[in-house]
Amino acid sequence: MNTVKALTLNLENGWEKKGFQMEEVPMPVLDETKNPEDALSVILKIKYAGVCGSDRGLWHRTAFKDMVHDSLAKEGKKVRITGHEFVGEIIQVGSMVHRLYHDPDPQNKAKVEVGSVVSGDSHITCGRCYQCRLGEGEVCLNEAILGISIDGIFAEYVKVPAKNLWPVDTTRVRPEIAAIYDPFGNAVHSATAVDLRGQRVAVFGCGPVGLFSVLLARNFGAAKVIAVDVNPENLRIAKELGAHETIQIQKKEKTNEWDSDPEVISRIMELTYGKGVDVSMEMAGPFSSVNNCIDATRRGGNVIFFGIKDGDLVIPKFSRVVVRGLTIHNIIGRQIFRTWQIAQRVLQDKTNGIQDAIWKTILKEGRATILDFKSFTPESFEKAMSENPKILFKING
Ligand SMILES: [Zn+2]
Ligand SMILES: [Zn+2]
Repeated sequence: MNTVKALTLNLENGWEKKGFQMEEVPMPVLDETKNPEDALSVILKIKYAGVCGSDRGLWHRTAFKDMVHDSLAKEGKKVRITGHEFVGEIIQVGSMVHRLYHDPDPQNKAKVEVGSVVSGDSHITCGRCYQCRLGEGEVCLNEAILGISIDGIFAEYVKVPAKNLWPVDTTRVRPEIAAIYDPFGNAVHSATAVDLRGQRVAVFGCGPVGLFSVLLARNFGAAKVIAVDVNPENLRIAKELGAHETIQIQKKEKTNEWDSDPEVISRIMELTYGKGVDVSMEMAGPFSSVNNCIDATRRGGNVIFFGIKDGDLVIPKFSRVVVRGLTIHNIIGRQIFRTWQIAQRVLQDKTNGIQDAIWKTILKEGRATILDFKSFTPESFEKAMSENPKILFKING
């Protein structure tokens, strides 16, 4: 049997033992007699794969325990192939794939056929539930997530449903950037939830999605962008990407995990002449960050929540949120494919500087941020994760 290298979470070792391991897994195949849905699937040769905050959560076993366990139990398996951010080349297509993608427009060079380079959404939606039928796939009732509740893409070759693919023109978007369309799309989804033109915006949490949000807020015409984080290096990067102001959160003892930080709030009030920001974006997850967002936003403003943390959050004096007329938006995934289209425009049009800024400032032109997949070691992987806001695997680059 042909095998390929894949980075897996293996429950044979128990859940508590952290990390992933490199394993040989069967080469994926399209077998339409056995699996009729393979007619609508493709085999991809993965070129680059992004490492997400959720992969970090899986690595350290701090997130997705139930999703991994329940989904593997259903499949009768113990091994989950991880990873969900990718760019790859199609090497085989199912017999019905051309029906999904054939566009008679000769101007449309973005094809989904053997030889095409594609990225794609990590949320596999069902297409049948109430939300899917309303065109709201991001809140599909039956969604599966690559690398968590179904096998993912940290592998040399993978099988994925064709309907999730997004063709990439690599003459306009470099493959290393195309590999992170998925998290960039989270930021696009967040930054298009409200109109940012002329707004004062605070971004809480400057990991990759927070940093992308700083870039987008500037591009979409925010009047002032304030970046907030505990890590001074993340703030330095945010500043380089165009944040007008930065605020470093000082770690200190707190009565409750969820308490907001009075120093951060008073600094935001200073920077907004006592009013508070028009829009705050929670891109980190800690409960205190959620309350910072609420407290930093002006009456009538918008609060956008994206970060996720398991557990019970307390919002002290919740009635204030109502009385002050805040509007709360929760962002999950990307809108398939509305926000992909916007992400593509923003990345392909190099005159806005966003693609270059991601490559030079966030990915450091690949220096120590692109790891060779085949020479994976847990130590080098952890080191790279801890030293950079975003890292990638070069798999068949
Ligand atoms: Zn991700
Ligand atoms: Zn659905």
